[in-house]
Amino acid sequence: SDRLFGGFRKTSERLSSNLTGAVGTARLDDATLDDVEDALIVSDLGPAAASRIRGRLAEQRFGLQITPQELKEAVAEEIAAILRPVAKPIEIVAFPRPQVILVIGVNGSGKTTTIAKLAHWFQEDDYEVMLAAGDTFRAAAIGQLATWAERLDVPIVRGPEGGDPASIVFDGVKAATDRGTDALIVDTAGRLQNKRELMDELEKIRRVLGRLNPEAPHDVVLVLDATNGQNALSQIEVFQQVAGVTGLIMTKLDGTARGGVLVAAAEQYGLPIHAIGVGEKMDDLRPFDPDLVARVIA
Ligand code: GDP
Repeated sequence: SDRLFGGFRKTSERLSSNLTGAVGTARLDDATLDDVEDALIVSDLGPAAASRIRGRLAEQRFGLQITPQELKEAVAEEIAAILRPVAKPIEIVAFPRPQVILVIGVNGSGKTTTIAKLAHWFQEDDYEVMLAAGDTFRAAAIGQLATWAERLDVPIVRGPEGGDPASIVFDGVKAATDRGTDALIVDTAGRLQNKRELMDELEKIRRVLGRLNPEAPHDVVLVLDATNGQNALSQIEVFQQVAGVTGLIMTKLDGTARGGVLVAAAEQYGLPIHAIGVGEKMDDLRPFDPDLVARVIA
């Protein structure tokens, strides 16, 4: 909890000071509610969540006295209510194995690091993990994933730079099936600048996977960088179209004041949030605990 709090420190400071600024006066009237709503919007919670929270506060407390502390607690409760329905860890349930987890997201979002963190997380639960270096567009991406694989002591299936990602994925599923591996985590290219190519590439991966196992991919996890604020939200939209997304992991919640974007994502898209990244190390992935996050940010 301490490390999670550390992770959200800047977000929390910003929302707290914005909210405290909103309730200088004694009673919760329309002007104060406007200020609260604005405070939530400038704290990156998005207009939809801000309006919902405003409505709930008005229902419960309109005309009543409210201290800044009570306001923060009430807001935290409403944030928790928005986050609870989307909190959903990835569970390894695929039968037959492996569970194929496709990881997508723009370059720089923390995709590779998140794959390593996920692998580490599953290892801690005694699952066998394998990685597939499906981002063949960047030589550095293959090398970086291979370095993590070595550090984690997990096998990796890789090919040459410029190779066919679908054939890497094919080899990965074959190898994981032969070894009885529980989870195959697949890195993919994050070239949103060329949407058509990316879409074709991901479709081909899906086709190949589907031929090997109609259930695969079991998860399509979109990695989002919280420091991108509202831009992270438009990435959800684009990747929904390009790839179909089954869940989110938001990274870099340490060191940003824009963590409120988690709430905006939950309110606007309702996609499962699997976990959050709060640092660069392999154990810096946290389960997404909605009540804890709500209490920490508000
Ligand atoms: P990719 O291009 O999407 O694969 O991104 P990388 O995994 O290479 O990450 C890009 C940079 O962000 C690296 O320097 C990572 O160490 C860093 N990074 C990834 N996740 C986090 C996080 O949760 N917190 C912080 N502070 N840095 C992160």
